[in-house]
Amino acid sequence: MSDDSVIAADIVVSNMEVIPAYQKLFQDQAKEAKRLQRFEPSCSGLVLHLGVDCIYEQLAHHNFFYSDHPREHFDAVFHSNRLSNDPTIYLVAPVKSDASQAPAGCEIIKILPHIPHLNPDKPLSADDYAALRERVLIKLERMGLTDLRKHIVCEEYWTPIDIEQKYYSNQGSIYGVVADRFKNLGFKIPQRSKQFNNLYFVGGSVNPGGGMPMVTLSGQLVRDKILADLGK
Ligand SMILES: Cc1cc2nc3c(=O)[nH]c(=O)nc-3n(C[C@H](O)[C@H](O)[C@H](O)COP(=O)(O)OP(=O)(O)OC[C@H]3O[C@@H](n4cnc5c(N)ncnc54)[C@H](O)[C@@H]3O)c2cc1C
Repeated sequence: MSDDSVIAADIVVSNMEVIPAYQKLFQDQAKEAKRLQRFEPSCSGLVLHLGVDCIYEQLAHHNFFYSDHPREHFDAVFHSNRLSNDPTIYLVAPVKSDASQAPAGCEIIKILPHIPHLNPDKPLSADDYAALRERVLIKLERMGLTDLRKHIVCEEYWTPIDIEQKYYSNQGSIYGVVADRFKNLGFKIPQRSKQFNNLYFVGGSVNPGGGMPMVTLSGQLVRDKILADLGK
């Protein structure tokens, strides 16, 4: 608890990502956190939340603007820890499903290119992220969102540093950990702790993985596991 009080419990379910939980919440667990390093953080994202004073009729609720150079893009995100010159962009326009989300004649738009998680060995600067923001907006203008930058009336902008601070995620990851067949046989972290048999984890870093449907499923699976462990 934030006031340092202690609540005893027979079973603890943690929604914090597993590696940060071992690093930050438990004492003397540096060894276990190190053992779990074979589970690499997933990618992160540059998040732009825009309010614009126009309607882009051509947008659907969910939209993808693909990279012309997907190999270069995936290499930048997952191998060379760079910000892609030509990223694939996920864009959400919620007004298409619910007009009450913005004033008449306006839209709110969420823009999310995937980018590398934070890597202390290959740091990226605030200027690097700002340059990517500009590349993304120019690409969207080129792909049909005419004068997008001129229509922005309000903006929220998150880098992986903000994501790490906001959600305590592992190095700014947004989908938990990577399933890597060489490092972890393609599995995520198990849902029950190996150190404490009454400690369970839910969320993006445990099986079955990140994304809203999967994390919801992880909660149901952990419920079933607890009931099975209790013999119910
Ligand atoms: C910008 C962004 C866009 C995304 N877009 C999509 C999408 O379009 N579709 C999709 O399916 N998925 C998307 N995801 C992924 C999805 O949001 C995650 O996979 C999912 O939210 C993970 O759920 P979770 O319960 O593991 O963690 P979270 O949703 O992060 O919940 C964990 C909560 O625990 C809190 N917490 C952590 N540590 C502590 C602590 N010590 N004490 C108290 N509280 C703590 C955090 O603040 C957080 O609120 C996106 C993620 C991000 C960041």
